[in-house]
Amino acid sequence: MRVAIFGTGYVGLVTGTCLAEVGHDVVCVDIDAAKVEGLKQGVIPIYEPGLEPMVKHNHASGRLDFTTDAAQAIAHGEVVFIAVGTPPDEDGSADLQYVLTVARTIGRHITRPTVVVDKSTVPVGTADKVHAAIAAELQARGMEVPFDVVSNPEFLKEGDAVNDCMRPDRIVIGADSAPVVERMKRLYAPFNRNHDRMVVMDVRSAELTKYAANAMLATKISFMNEIANIAERVGADIEHVRHGIGSDPRIGWHFIYPGAGYGGSCFPKDVQALAHTAQQHGYDARLLNAVEEVNESQKGHLFELIQRHYDRGEDEGVRGKTFAVWGLSFKPNTDDMRAASSRTLLAQLWEAGARVRAYDPEASHEAKRIFGERDDLLLCDSASAALEGADALVVVTEWKQFRSPDFARLKTTLADAVVFDGRNLYEPVEVEAAGLAYYGIGRGRSLRAE
Ligand code: NAD
Repeated sequence: MRVAIFGTGYVGLVTGTCLAEVGHDVVCVDIDAAKVEGLKQGVIPIYEPGLEPMVKHNHASGRLDFTTDAAQAIAHGEVVFIAVGTPPDEDGSADLQYVLTVARTIGRHITRPTVVVDKSTVPVGTADKVHAAIAAELQARGMEVPFDVVSNPEFLKEGDAVNDCMRPDRIVIGADSAPVVERMKRLYAPFNRNHDRMVVMDVRSAELTKYAANAMLATKISFMNEIANIAERVGADIEHVRHGIGSDPRIGWHFIYPGAGYGGSCFPKDVQALAHTAQQHGYDARLLNAVEEVNESQKGHLFELIQRHYDRGEDEGVRGKTFAVWGLSFKPNTDDMRAASSRTLLAQLWEAGARVRAYDPEASHEAKRIFGERDDLLLCDSASAALEGADALVVVTEWKQFRSPDFARLKTTLADAVVFDGRNLYEPVEVEAAGLAYYGIGRGRSLRAE
Protein backbone atom coordinates (compact mmCIF):
# COMPACT_ATOMS: atom_id res chain seq x y z
CA MET A 1 0.00 0.00 0.00
CA ARG A 2 1.06 3.61 -0.48
CA VAL A 3 1.63 5.22 2.90
CA ALA A 4 2.49 8.78 3.99
CA ILE A 5 3.74 9.48 7.50
CA PHE A 6 3.83 12.94 9.07
CA GLY A 7 6.62 13.26 11.64
CA THR A 8 9.96 11.43 11.38
CA GLY A 9 10.72 11.25 15.10
CA TYR A 10 11.08 8.10 17.21
CA VAL A 11 7.63 6.84 16.22
CA GLY A 12 7.23 8.10 12.64
CA LEU A 13 10.67 7.06 11.44
CA VAL A 14 10.52 3.60 13.00
CA THR A 15 6.95 2.98 11.80
CA GLY A 16 7.71 4.21 8.28
CA THR A 17 10.84 2.10 8.06
CA CYS A 18 9.12 -1.05 9.31
CA LEU A 19 6.19 -0.57 6.91
CA ALA A 20 8.70 -0.19 4.04
CA GLU A 21 10.59 -3.25 5.29
CA VAL A 22 7.49 -5.43 4.75
CA GLY A 23 6.93 -4.05 1.25
CA HIS A 24 4.77 -0.95 1.58
CA ASP A 25 5.66 2.16 -0.38
CA VAL A 26 6.31 4.85 2.25
CA VAL A 27 6.92 8.60 2.11
CA CYS A 28 7.88 10.27 5.41
CA VAL A 29 7.25 14.01 5.77
CA ASP A 30 8.81 16.36 8.29
CA ILE A 31 8.94 20.14 8.65
CA ASP A 32 12.56 19.85 9.80
CA ALA A 33 14.39 20.29 6.49
CA ALA A 34 17.81 19.42 7.95
CA LYS A 35 16.44 16.14 9.32
CA VAL A 36 14.88 15.24 5.97
CA GLU A 37 18.06 16.12 4.05
CA GLY A 38 20.12 14.09 6.52
CA LEU A 39 17.81 11.07 6.18
CA LYS A 40 18.15 11.20 2.40
CA GLN A 41 21.92 11.04 2.90
CA GLY A 42 21.60 8.14 5.36
CA VAL A 43 22.10 10.23 8.52
CA ILE A 44 19.76 8.87 11.20
CA PRO A 45 18.73 11.66 13.62
CA ILE A 46 18.16 9.37 16.63
CA TYR A 47 19.94 6.44 18.20
CA GLU A 48 17.74 3.36 17.93
CA PRO A 49 19.38 -0.08 17.71
CA GLY A 50 18.97 -1.71 14.29
CA LEU A 51 17.29 1.28 12.66
CA GLU A 52 20.13 2.67 10.57
CA PRO A 53 20.70 -0.28 8.21
CA MET A 54 16.95 -0.70 7.75
CA VAL A 55 16.48 2.96 6.81
CA LYS A 56 19.40 2.79 4.40
CA HIS A 57 18.41 -0.35 2.54
CA ASN A 58 14.74 0.58 2.27
CA HIS A 59 15.66 4.05 1.04
CA ALA A 60 18.05 2.53 -1.49
CA SER A 61 15.34 0.11 -2.66
CA GLY A 62 13.00 3.06 -3.32
CA ARG A 63 10.32 1.91 -0.83
CA LEU A 64 11.16 4.62 1.75
CA ASP A 65 11.49 8.26 0.86
CA PHE A 66 11.72 11.52 2.81
CA THR A 67 10.35 14.91 1.98
CA THR A 68 9.30 18.27 3.39
CA ASP A 69 6.63 18.52 0.72
CA ALA A 70 3.35 17.74 2.47
CA ALA A 71 1.26 18.00 -0.71
CA GLN A 72 3.45 15.45 -2.48
CA ALA A 73 3.21 13.06 0.47
CA ILE A 74 -0.57 13.36 0.69
CA ALA A 75 -0.87 12.79 -3.05
CA HIS A 76 1.18 9.62 -2.52
CA GLY A 77 -0.60 8.13 0.48
CA GLU A 78 -3.84 6.18 0.42
CA VAL A 79 -3.18 5.84 4.16
CA VAL A 80 -1.80 8.96 5.91
CA PHE A 81 -0.32 8.64 9.41
CA ILE A 82 -0.05 11.46 11.93
CA ALA A 83 3.01 10.72 14.13
CA VAL A 84 3.99 14.19 15.33
CA GLY A 85 4.72 15.17 18.93
CA THR A 86 2.07 15.85 21.58
CA PRO A 87 4.14 17.59 24.27
CA PRO A 88 2.60 18.69 27.54
CA ASP A 89 0.99 22.11 27.60
CA GLU A 90 1.50 24.36 30.62
CA ASP A 91 -1.55 22.91 32.41
CA GLY A 92 -0.43 19.30 31.82
CA SER A 93 -2.87 18.67 28.97
CA ALA A 94 -1.57 17.31 25.65
CA ASP A 95 -0.68 20.12 23.26
CA LEU A 96 -2.48 19.19 20.04
CA GLN A 97 -1.19 22.02 17.88
CA TYR A 98 1.12 19.79 15.80
CA VAL A 99 -1.53 17.10 15.29
CA LEU A 100 -4.15 19.63 14.23
CA THR A 101 -1.72 21.47 11.95
CA VAL A 102 -1.15 18.19 10.12
CA ALA A 103 -4.93 17.57 10.00
CA ARG A 104 -5.48 20.96 8.37
CA THR A 105 -2.66 20.27 5.90
CA ILE A 106 -4.32 16.97 4.98
CA GLY A 107 -7.65 18.78 4.48
CA ARG A 108 -5.98 21.30 2.20
CA HIS A 109 -4.49 18.65 -0.07
CA ILE A 110 -6.50 15.42 -0.25
CA THR A 111 -8.18 14.75 -3.53
CA ARG A 112 -9.22 11.08 -3.17
CA PRO A 113 -10.57 8.76 -0.45
CA THR A 114 -8.02 8.62 2.35
CA VAL A 115 -7.61 6.84 5.67
CA VAL A 116 -6.08 9.22 8.21
CA VAL A 117 -4.41 7.38 11.10
CA ASP A 118 -3.73 9.04 14.47
CA LYS A 119 -0.57 7.35 15.74
CA SER A 120 0.43 10.17 18.06
CA THR A 121 -0.66 9.68 21.66
CA VAL A 122 -3.73 11.91 21.86
CA PRO A 123 -6.50 12.49 24.39
CA VAL A 124 -9.90 10.91 23.95
CA GLY A 125 -11.88 12.96 21.46
CA THR A 126 -8.91 13.99 19.30
CA ALA A 127 -10.02 11.89 16.33
CA ASP A 128 -13.20 14.01 16.28
CA LYS A 129 -11.07 17.19 16.26
CA VAL A 130 -8.88 15.82 13.48
CA HIS A 131 -12.01 14.92 11.52
CA ALA A 132 -13.46 18.41 12.02
CA ALA A 133 -10.20 20.12 11.01
CA ILE A 134 -9.98 18.13 7.76
CA ALA A 135 -13.68 18.67 7.01
CA ALA A 136 -13.36 22.43 7.56
CA GLU A 137 -10.50 22.67 5.08
CA LEU A 138 -12.37 20.59 2.52
CA GLN A 139 -15.40 22.81 2.95
CA ALA A 140 -13.23 25.91 2.44
CA ARG A 141 -12.05 24.33 -0.82
CA GLY A 142 -15.66 23.55 -1.77
CA MET A 143 -14.74 19.89 -2.17
CA GLU A 144 -16.25 16.64 -0.95
CA VAL A 145 -13.67 13.91 -0.51
CA PRO A 146 -14.50 10.87 1.62
CA PHE A 147 -12.04 10.24 4.43
CA ASP A 148 -11.91 8.31 7.71
CA VAL A 149 -9.99 8.98 10.89
CA VAL A 150 -8.62 5.92 12.69
CA SER A 151 -6.91 5.71 16.06
CA ASN A 152 -3.86 3.43 16.00
CA PRO A 153 -1.83 4.20 19.12
CA GLU A 154 1.82 3.16 19.19
CA PHE A 155 3.28 0.95 21.92
CA LEU A 156 6.93 0.75 20.86
CA LYS A 157 9.66 1.14 23.47
CA GLU A 158 12.58 3.40 22.67
CA GLY A 159 15.72 1.27 22.68
CA ASP A 160 13.79 -1.74 21.33
CA ALA A 161 11.56 0.09 18.89
CA VAL A 162 12.43 -1.78 15.71
CA ASN A 163 11.78 -5.12 17.35
CA ASP A 164 8.51 -3.86 18.87
CA CYS A 165 7.38 -2.56 15.51
CA MET A 166 8.34 -5.68 13.53
CA ARG A 167 6.92 -8.03 16.19
CA PRO A 168 4.18 -6.07 17.95
CA ASP A 169 2.46 -7.77 20.86
CA ARG A 170 -0.76 -6.03 19.82
CA ILE A 171 -1.98 -3.67 17.12
CA VAL A 172 -4.80 -1.55 18.48
CA ILE A 173 -7.19 -0.18 15.89
CA GLY A 174 -9.99 2.19 16.80
CA ALA A 175 -12.31 2.63 13.86
CA ASP A 176 -15.98 3.25 13.23
CA SER A 177 -16.48 1.38 9.98
CA ALA A 178 -15.85 -2.18 8.85
CA PRO A 179 -14.26 -1.26 5.46
CA VAL A 180 -11.68 0.92 7.25
CA VAL A 181 -10.84 -1.90 9.65
CA GLU A 182 -10.31 -4.11 6.59
CA ARG A 183 -7.90 -1.55 5.09
CA MET A 184 -5.93 -1.43 8.35
CA LYS A 185 -5.88 -5.24 8.50
CA ARG A 186 -4.40 -5.30 5.00
CA LEU A 187 -1.78 -2.72 5.96
CA TYR A 188 -0.70 -4.68 9.02
CA ALA A 189 -1.14 -8.19 7.55
CA PRO A 190 2.64 -8.75 7.18
CA PHE A 191 3.03 -8.28 10.97
CA ASN A 192 0.15 -10.58 11.66
CA ARG A 193 1.14 -13.80 9.96
CA ASN A 194 2.06 -15.79 13.04
CA HIS A 195 -1.17 -15.03 14.88
CA ASP A 196 -3.73 -12.24 14.86
CA ARG A 197 -2.47 -9.34 16.92
CA MET A 198 -5.18 -6.90 15.91
CA VAL A 199 -7.37 -5.61 18.71
CA VAL A 200 -10.25 -3.74 17.10
CA MET A 201 -12.43 -1.32 19.05
CA ASP A 202 -14.15 2.03 18.81
CA VAL A 203 -12.04 5.15 18.36
CA ARG A 204 -12.42 6.55 21.88
CA SER A 205 -11.52 3.27 23.53
CA ALA A 206 -8.38 3.04 21.38
CA GLU A 207 -7.35 6.56 22.38
CA LEU A 208 -7.85 5.73 26.05
CA THR A 209 -6.06 2.36 25.76
CA LYS A 210 -2.71 4.04 25.07
CA TYR A 211 -2.99 6.29 28.12
CA ALA A 212 -4.17 3.40 30.28
CA ALA A 213 -1.13 1.32 29.28
CA ASN A 214 1.39 4.05 30.07
CA ALA A 215 -0.38 5.07 33.27
CA MET A 216 -0.40 1.44 34.46
CA LEU A 217 3.35 1.05 33.86
CA ALA A 218 4.12 4.40 35.49
CA THR A 219 1.97 3.37 38.46
CA LYS A 220 4.00 0.18 38.94
CA ILE A 221 7.23 2.20 38.98
CA SER A 222 5.96 4.82 41.41
CA PHE A 223 4.48 2.12 43.63
CA MET A 224 7.85 0.38 43.80
CA ASN A 225 9.66 3.65 44.50
CA GLU A 226 7.24 4.33 47.32
CA ILE A 227 7.93 0.90 48.83
CA ALA A 228 11.68 1.58 48.39
CA ASN A 229 11.32 4.80 50.36
CA ILE A 230 9.54 2.90 53.11
CA ALA A 231 12.22 0.17 52.99
CA GLU A 232 14.92 2.79 53.50
CA ARG A 233 13.20 4.06 56.61
CA VAL A 234 12.37 0.74 58.21
CA GLY A 235 15.71 -0.94 57.49
CA ALA A 236 14.56 -3.38 54.81
CA ASP A 237 16.22 -4.07 51.46
CA ILE A 238 13.94 -3.32 48.53
CA GLU A 239 15.81 -5.79 46.30
CA HIS A 240 14.76 -8.66 48.57
CA VAL A 241 11.24 -7.28 48.54
CA ARG A 242 11.29 -7.06 44.74
CA HIS A 243 12.28 -10.70 44.43
CA GLY A 244 9.66 -11.61 46.97
CA ILE A 245 6.80 -9.98 45.12
CA GLY A 246 7.90 -10.40 41.48
CA SER A 247 7.70 -14.16 41.76
CA ASP A 248 3.95 -13.83 42.25
CA PRO A 249 2.58 -14.19 38.69
CA ARG A 250 -0.24 -11.79 39.51
CA ILE A 251 2.43 -9.12 40.08
CA GLY A 252 5.19 -10.22 37.69
CA TRP A 253 8.79 -9.07 37.24
CA HIS A 254 8.28 -6.20 34.84
CA PHE A 255 8.34 -2.55 35.87
CA ILE A 256 8.92 -3.19 39.56
CA TYR A 257 12.48 -1.89 39.59
CA PRO A 258 13.01 0.88 42.12
CA GLY A 259 15.19 3.71 40.89
CA ALA A 260 15.74 7.39 40.33
CA GLY A 261 12.30 7.92 38.80
CA TYR A 262 10.87 7.47 35.32
CA GLY A 263 11.46 9.97 32.52
CA GLY A 264 11.18 9.99 28.75
CA SER A 265 8.78 11.54 26.32
CA CYS A 266 5.82 9.37 27.31
CA PHE A 267 5.15 8.42 30.94
CA PRO A 268 5.38 11.87 32.57
CA LYS A 269 3.36 13.68 29.94
CA ASP A 270 0.83 10.90 29.38
CA VAL A 271 0.03 10.45 33.08
CA GLN A 272 -0.46 14.20 33.40
CA ALA A 273 -2.55 14.42 30.23
CA LEU A 274 -4.82 11.57 31.36
CA ALA A 275 -5.33 13.22 34.76
CA HIS A 276 -6.13 16.44 32.94
CA THR A 277 -8.67 14.73 30.68
CA ALA A 278 -10.28 13.18 33.77
CA GLN A 279 -10.48 16.59 35.43
CA GLN A 280 -12.07 18.11 32.33
CA HIS A 281 -14.76 15.46 32.64
CA GLY A 282 -15.36 16.19 36.30
CA TYR A 283 -13.29 13.37 37.78
CA ASP A 284 -10.39 13.91 40.15
CA ALA A 285 -7.85 11.20 39.18
CA ARG A 286 -6.23 10.92 42.62
CA LEU A 287 -4.18 7.84 41.82
CA LEU A 288 -2.71 9.33 38.61
CA ASN A 289 -1.82 12.57 40.36
CA ALA A 290 -0.10 10.61 43.13
CA VAL A 291 1.87 8.55 40.60
CA GLU A 292 3.33 11.75 39.12
CA GLU A 293 3.90 13.32 42.53
CA VAL A 294 5.84 10.28 43.77
CA ASN A 295 7.90 10.29 40.57
CA GLU A 296 8.73 13.97 40.76
CA SER A 297 10.07 13.60 44.28
CA GLN A 298 11.86 10.35 43.36
CA LYS A 299 13.85 12.22 40.72
CA GLY A 300 15.34 14.23 43.58
CA HIS A 301 16.16 11.17 45.67
CA LEU A 302 19.70 10.63 44.44
CA PHE A 303 20.56 14.19 45.41
CA GLU A 304 19.02 13.60 48.86
CA LEU A 305 21.32 10.61 49.31
CA ILE A 306 24.28 12.71 48.19
CA GLN A 307 23.33 15.43 50.66
CA ARG A 308 22.92 12.85 53.40
CA HIS A 309 26.43 11.53 52.76
CA TYR A 310 28.04 14.95 52.65
CA ASP A 311 25.82 16.41 55.35
CA ARG A 312 27.66 19.38 56.83
CA GLY A 313 24.76 21.80 56.99
CA GLU A 314 23.36 23.69 54.00
CA ASP A 315 25.05 22.40 50.84
CA GLU A 316 28.55 23.10 52.04
CA GLY A 317 29.52 19.44 51.88
CA VAL A 318 28.54 19.17 48.21
CA ARG A 319 29.91 22.56 47.15
CA GLY A 320 33.16 22.26 45.20
CA LYS A 321 32.84 18.47 44.81
CA THR A 322 33.12 16.78 41.42
CA PHE A 323 30.66 14.02 40.56
CA ALA A 324 31.21 11.42 37.86
CA VAL A 325 27.74 10.78 36.38
CA TRP A 326 27.21 7.57 34.40
CA GLY A 327 24.18 7.75 32.13
CA LEU A 328 22.22 10.76 30.91
CA SER A 329 19.51 9.24 28.70
CA PHE A 330 16.19 8.50 30.39
CA LYS A 331 16.81 4.78 29.93
CA PRO A 332 19.44 2.58 28.24
CA ASN A 333 19.68 2.10 24.46
CA THR A 334 18.38 5.52 23.56
CA ASP A 335 19.80 9.02 23.23
CA ASP A 336 16.50 10.52 24.40
CA MET A 337 16.90 12.83 27.42
CA ARG A 338 13.34 14.18 27.52
CA ALA A 339 12.30 14.43 31.20
CA ALA A 340 15.33 12.29 32.15
CA SER A 341 16.16 11.93 35.86
CA SER A 342 19.73 12.97 35.02
CA ARG A 343 18.45 16.47 34.23
CA THR A 344 16.98 16.86 37.72
CA LEU A 345 20.17 15.54 39.32
CA LEU A 346 22.51 17.76 37.30
CA ALA A 347 20.40 20.86 38.04
CA GLN A 348 20.50 20.05 41.77
CA LEU A 349 24.26 19.39 41.77
CA TRP A 350 24.96 22.63 39.94
CA GLU A 351 22.62 24.56 42.21
CA ALA A 352 24.60 23.19 45.18
CA GLY A 353 27.91 24.30 43.65
CA ALA A 354 29.18 20.92 42.44
CA ARG A 355 30.82 20.04 39.13
CA VAL A 356 29.89 17.15 36.84
CA ARG A 357 31.94 14.84 34.62
CA ALA A 358 29.32 12.90 32.66
CA TYR A 359 29.45 9.93 30.34
CA ASP A 360 26.64 8.44 28.30
CA PRO A 361 27.23 5.97 25.45
CA GLU A 362 24.75 7.72 23.12
CA ALA A 363 23.30 10.89 24.64
CA SER A 364 26.36 13.19 24.73
CA HIS A 365 25.29 15.12 21.64
CA GLU A 366 21.84 15.58 23.14
CA ALA A 367 23.37 16.75 26.44
CA LYS A 368 25.50 19.23 24.51
CA ARG A 369 22.39 20.53 22.78
CA ILE A 370 20.43 20.84 26.05
CA PHE A 371 23.12 22.22 28.37
CA GLY A 372 25.47 23.99 25.95
CA GLU A 373 29.00 24.85 27.10
CA ARG A 374 29.32 25.20 30.89
CA ASP A 375 32.31 25.33 33.20
CA ASP A 376 30.69 22.88 35.61
CA LEU A 377 30.00 20.16 33.00
CA LEU A 378 32.47 18.02 31.14
CA LEU A 379 31.06 15.44 28.73
CA CYS A 380 33.52 12.55 28.68
CA ASP A 381 34.25 9.94 26.02
CA SER A 382 34.23 6.94 28.32
CA ALA A 383 33.03 5.76 31.71
CA SER A 384 36.60 5.67 33.02
CA ALA A 385 37.36 9.18 31.72
CA ALA A 386 34.40 10.48 33.73
CA LEU A 387 35.98 9.10 36.91
CA GLU A 388 39.26 10.97 36.53
CA GLY A 389 39.48 13.68 39.17
CA ALA A 390 36.00 12.89 40.52
CA ASP A 391 35.13 12.66 44.21
CA ALA A 392 32.13 10.36 43.84
CA LEU A 393 30.28 8.27 41.25
CA VAL A 394 26.56 8.55 40.55
CA VAL A 395 24.90 5.98 38.27
CA VAL A 396 21.72 7.36 36.75
CA THR A 397 21.02 5.15 33.70
CA GLU A 398 21.41 1.37 33.70
CA TRP A 399 23.41 0.94 30.47
CA LYS A 400 24.78 -2.63 30.35
CA GLN A 401 28.39 -1.43 30.27
CA PHE A 402 27.99 0.05 33.79
CA ARG A 403 27.00 -3.27 35.37
CA SER A 404 30.40 -4.63 36.35
CA PRO A 405 32.87 -1.88 37.18
CA ASP A 406 36.25 -2.61 38.75
CA PHE A 407 35.41 -1.57 42.32
CA ALA A 408 39.06 -1.68 43.42
CA ARG A 409 39.86 0.86 40.71
CA LEU A 410 36.87 2.99 41.73
CA LYS A 411 38.24 3.00 45.26
CA THR A 412 41.62 4.33 44.14
CA THR A 413 40.20 6.81 41.59
CA LEU A 414 37.35 8.44 43.50
CA ALA A 415 38.70 10.89 46.07
CA ASP A 416 35.80 10.32 48.48
CA ALA A 417 35.37 6.62 47.62
CA VAL A 418 31.58 6.69 47.41
CA VAL A 419 29.07 5.30 44.91
CA PHE A 420 25.47 6.48 44.53
CA ASP A 421 23.63 3.82 42.56
CA GLY A 422 20.37 5.23 41.18
CA ARG A 423 19.37 1.93 39.53
CA ASN A 424 20.45 -0.66 42.12
CA LEU A 425 22.96 -2.20 39.73
CA TYR A 426 25.43 -3.32 42.39
CA GLU A 427 25.49 -5.52 45.43
CA PRO A 428 26.13 -3.29 48.46
CA VAL A 429 28.29 -5.95 50.14
CA GLU A 430 30.56 -6.24 47.10
CA VAL A 431 30.98 -2.46 46.76
CA GLU A 432 31.61 -2.00 50.46
CA ALA A 433 34.10 -4.89 50.49
CA ALA A 434 36.22 -2.83 48.07
CA GLY A 435 36.32 -0.03 50.63
CA LEU A 436 33.72 2.21 49.02
CA ALA A 437 30.66 3.71 50.65
CA TYR A 438 27.49 2.61 48.83
CA TYR A 439 24.07 4.18 48.51
CA GLY A 440 21.33 2.47 46.52
CA ILE A 441 17.62 3.12 46.28
CA GLY A 442 15.91 1.59 49.29
CA ARG A 443 18.95 -0.41 50.39
CA GLY A 444 22.58 -0.63 51.40
CA ARG A 445 24.34 2.21 53.21
CA SER A 446 21.23 4.31 52.77
CA LEU A 447 19.42 2.00 55.22
CA ARG A 448 18.70 3.73 58.49
CA ALA A 449 16.59 1.64 60.84
CA GLU A 450 14.87 3.91 63.30
P1 NAD B 1 9.45 13.32 18.12
O1 NAD B 1 9.48 14.65 18.78
O2 NAD B 1 10.63 12.42 18.16
O3 NAD B 1 9.08 13.53 16.56
C1 NAD B 1 8.07 14.36 16.10
C2 NAD B 1 8.44 14.82 14.68
O4 NAD B 1 7.31 15.49 14.12
C3 NAD B 1 9.60 15.81 14.66
O5 NAD B 1 10.60 15.35 13.77
C4 NAD B 1 8.95 17.10 14.14
O6 NAD B 1 9.82 17.89 13.36
C5 NAD B 1 7.81 16.54 13.31
N1 NAD B 1 6.74 17.48 13.01
C6 NAD B 1 6.17 18.42 13.81
N2 NAD B 1 5.20 19.07 13.15
C7 NAD B 1 5.14 18.53 11.91
C8 NAD B 1 4.33 18.77 10.76
N3 NAD B 1 3.38 19.72 10.75
N4 NAD B 1 4.54 18.03 9.66
C9 NAD B 1 5.49 17.07 9.64
N5 NAD B 1 6.29 16.79 10.70
C10 NAD B 1 6.11 17.51 11.81
O7 NAD B 1 8.17 12.58 18.70
P2 NAD B 1 7.99 11.01 18.99
O8 NAD B 1 8.75 10.62 20.21
O9 NAD B 1 8.17 10.24 17.73
O10 NAD B 1 6.45 10.98 19.40
C11 NAD B 1 5.41 11.18 18.46
C12 NAD B 1 4.09 10.78 19.09
O11 NAD B 1 4.10 9.38 19.39
C13 NAD B 1 3.79 11.49 20.42
O12 NAD B 1 2.41 11.70 20.51
C14 NAD B 1 4.23 10.47 21.44
O13 NAD B 1 3.56 10.62 22.67
C15 NAD B 1 3.85 9.17 20.78
N6 NAD B 1 4.63 8.01 21.20
C16 NAD B 1 5.98 8.13 21.42
C17 NAD B 1 6.70 6.99 21.80
C18 NAD B 1 8.18 7.10 22.08
O14 NAD B 1 8.71 6.16 22.67
N7 NAD B 1 8.86 8.16 21.67
C19 NAD B 1 6.06 5.77 21.94
C20 NAD B 1 4.70 5.67 21.67
C21 NAD B 1 3.99 6.81 21.31
